[in-house]
Amino acid sequence: MRSPIERYLRDLHQELSGLKDGVPFQGIPAMADADPDDFAICLATVDGHVYEVGDSRTDFTIQSISKPFTYGLALEDHGLDAVDRKVDVEPSGDAFNEISLAHDTGRPANAMINAGAIAAASLIKGSGGRDGFARILDIHSRFAGRSLDVSERAFASESATGYRNRALAHLLRSFDIIEDDPERAVENYFRQCSIRVNARDLALMGATLANGGRQPLTGEQVVDLETVQRMLSVMLTCGMYDDAGAWTSAVGLPAKSGVGGGLMAVLPGQLGISVYSPALDPHGSSVRGIAAVRRLSAEMGLHFVKAA
Ligand code: GLN
Repeated sequence: MRSPIERYLRDLHQELSGLKDGVPFQGIPAMADADPDDFAICLATVDGHVYEVGDSRTDFTIQSISKPFTYGLALEDHGLDAVDRKVDVEPSGDAFNEISLAHDTGRPANAMINAGAIAAASLIKGSGGRDGFARILDIHSRFAGRSLDVSERAFASESATGYRNRALAHLLRSFDIIEDDPERAVENYFRQCSIRVNARDLALMGATLANGGRQPLTGEQVVDLETVQRMLSVMLTCGMYDDAGAWTSAVGLPAKSGVGGGLMAVLPGQLGISVYSPALDPHGSSVRGIAAVRRLSAEMGLHFVKAA
């Protein structure tokens, strides 16, 4: 017997499978051949129940959905004030790869655009015998509740073609926003973008945020509540890049998209939501992902402003 939620998700999945707009990300050769028909929708509750429909166990690279998690680790390592001196928390309204740094200080507007994400990655140092990237991978795994790994193919492809991100890292170094090797920072950023997840993982990562930082399946408190508040606030105002205002108005949920086709949204206190579908809109967000979360928000009443 299927629950009403499963039936609802199945119908929504079937209906939106007809949506054929957009194309997979062309900027990284290893991703251009993703199957545009892949499609999954997942919901994970704060008590660890996961509803999944479609290709929810198909791997894809996390891409920009990694940005809030590495930012969260930087906040845990250094505290809010020290991180704020390096990366601001203002929506930029810019595209994800915009070269937008404050004129005087070089400080990126927020950690959801590439400049801010590369700066955040530079703040993660090795400790306890593990290098900076091992710690970045580890925090993603702890949010997901299982050991994640890296697509070496996506990493090699992005590293070979990521001239703009490399330029951003060197620019950040020139302003001393990055204080050590900019190549190490950008390589770690490329690696974090190449972390492999599936839609179920993303829903559980979202549910961990919804649950105040406690992973619903493992019970681990992965980050502090103060860190979660900051991560979700920046996702709400900046997570959807130059579409963030329209998104927050219509959907009213903190969210993050990635050019791998993933989209993660969070209903604090209740749910992590994820969609995987690789065909992207012009902002670099999944077309079916946006459509599905918009529908879920409207039909399940998830917008943070609701009738009393
Ligand atoms: N790795 C991609 C880049 O840096 C991530 C961008 C994204 O998902 N929006 O260009």
